[in-house]
Amino acid sequence: RSLSVSVVPILKKLQRECATPLPVLRHVADAMAADMRAGLAADGGSDLKMILSYVDSLPRGNEKGLFYALDLGGTNFRVLRVQLGGEEDRVVATEFDQVTIPQELMFGTSEKLFDFIASGLGKFSNKEGGKFHLPPGRKREIGFTFSFPVKQISIDSGILIKWTKGFAVSGTAGKDVVACLNEAMERRGLDMRVSALVNDTVATLAGARYWDNDVMVAVILGTGTNACYVERTDAIPKLDGHVSTSGRTIINTEWGAFSNGLPLTEFDREMDAASINPGEQIYEKTISGMYLGEIVRRALVKMAVEGALFGKSIPHKLLTPFLLRTPDLCAMQKDESDDLQKVGSVLYDVAGVESNLGARKVVVEVCDTITKRGGRLAGAGIVGILQKMEEDSKGLIFGKRTVVAMDGGLYEKYSQYRGYMHGAVTELLGTELSRNLVIEHSKDGSGIGAALLAAANSNYE
Ligand code: ADP
Repeated sequence: RSLSVSVVPILKKLQRECATPLPVLRHVADAMAADMRAGLAADGGSDLKMILSYVDSLPRGNEKGLFYALDLGGTNFRVLRVQLGGEEDRVVATEFDQVTIPQELMFGTSEKLFDFIASGLGKFSNKEGGKFHLPPGRKREIGFTFSFPVKQISIDSGILIKWTKGFAVSGTAGKDVVACLNEAMERRGLDMRVSALVNDTVATLAGARYWDNDVMVAVILGTGTNACYVERTDAIPKLDGHVSTSGRTIINTEWGAFSNGLPLTEFDREMDAASINPGEQIYEKTISGMYLGEIVRRALVKMAVEGALFGKSIPHKLLTPFLLRTPDLCAMQKDESDDLQKVGSVLYDVAGVESNLGARKVVVEVCDTITKRGGRLAGAGIVGILQKMEEDSKGLIFGKRTVVAMDGGLYEKYSQYRGYMHGAVTELLGTELSRNLVIEHSKDGSGIGAALLAAANSNYE
């Protein structure tokens, strides 16, 4: 068939360019470790921002009392309360709620937005039932997970650099978002205050650490990606006077900006050039959920145009950017039928493409190539972090049990991706060292983590 004659070379080239043999993985891990070090030395010293979280005290498991969490990172905000019972009783009760932010508030004033959030918090706290107890004379303390770029200046304050993700609220940029929320709560007469402002990765680490003292790293693999880890303060030259009583602090790596030595293709470069942030977040664009489907789509378009993958005519719909999404890849890779019927129906339902078995096989190969590269590079990044920690403190990581807490829809739902990631970690570390490494899905996610950080940084201790 003419199909294979012209498609196969394109596929082979793609596979060659996306290959991640051990030396490539090793280079990425080494470069990640080196970039981390450079980012810790000075602001602007590296692709990796290595942001100080000001989280110096991690949950120990003995926290007690009633704490709240507020998570603002997209078009919904989530609120949660948890009654912590200490070492023995642990999480006595939790309740949560989710509120959609009306479109007009995303384009309104800062006061209106924070008033709306405060009002949601107020309604939620009014419904506090008998399982929850606040000691008299205390305010309800909130751990605030805020997933927009902030310049943090202490555990309970941070200046908004800019809104992202469709928010265009006027009057917040340059202000302390914690003060904005605290003021809104005061306006409504709420007895609540923010005691910890945290990034979602940091909250994930805290949530996992509550259950397991060996958690040292947290990684999010969802729409985007990020990682944080526990660092020694004496290994942070840029710390500049900040004192941590524990001698440790969490560093938010913002590793999505990493770019050193990644195996990239023409499809990556074209996608990057067409993106809203060309030249930025290259690692994120190679490994995270928002982009895997788009890279596959671009490869399929080339195969359709130059190799007649789907016959003589080019399926018009397939030319739509971001038409193919990562869950579609996942669904196609799950297909174990002889005629790849599911692959056929995804192609048809999503892109209006009619496909024969040969074409379907090629599509699965393309999905696998991009997913494999993504998963394996994510694994190399994790090893890079572990390597950096071990270099500074021999025996801290290797030779003892260490846990990496994972969260995010991509990791959770895409089993092939997860498998490739784990495989790369084992390849890099060898079976001996990997035996002590536990990479696991963090059950409680970031919600409880933020509440725990409010507890660990309570103003009443
Ligand atoms: P977010 O990162 O947007 O805060 P999640 O952690 O839930 O939220 O991740 C959502 C992302 O996970 C989606 O953008 C998608 O890329 C990926 N994802 C969701 N479902 C699946 C699936 N079934 N298979 C593969 N990837 C998925």
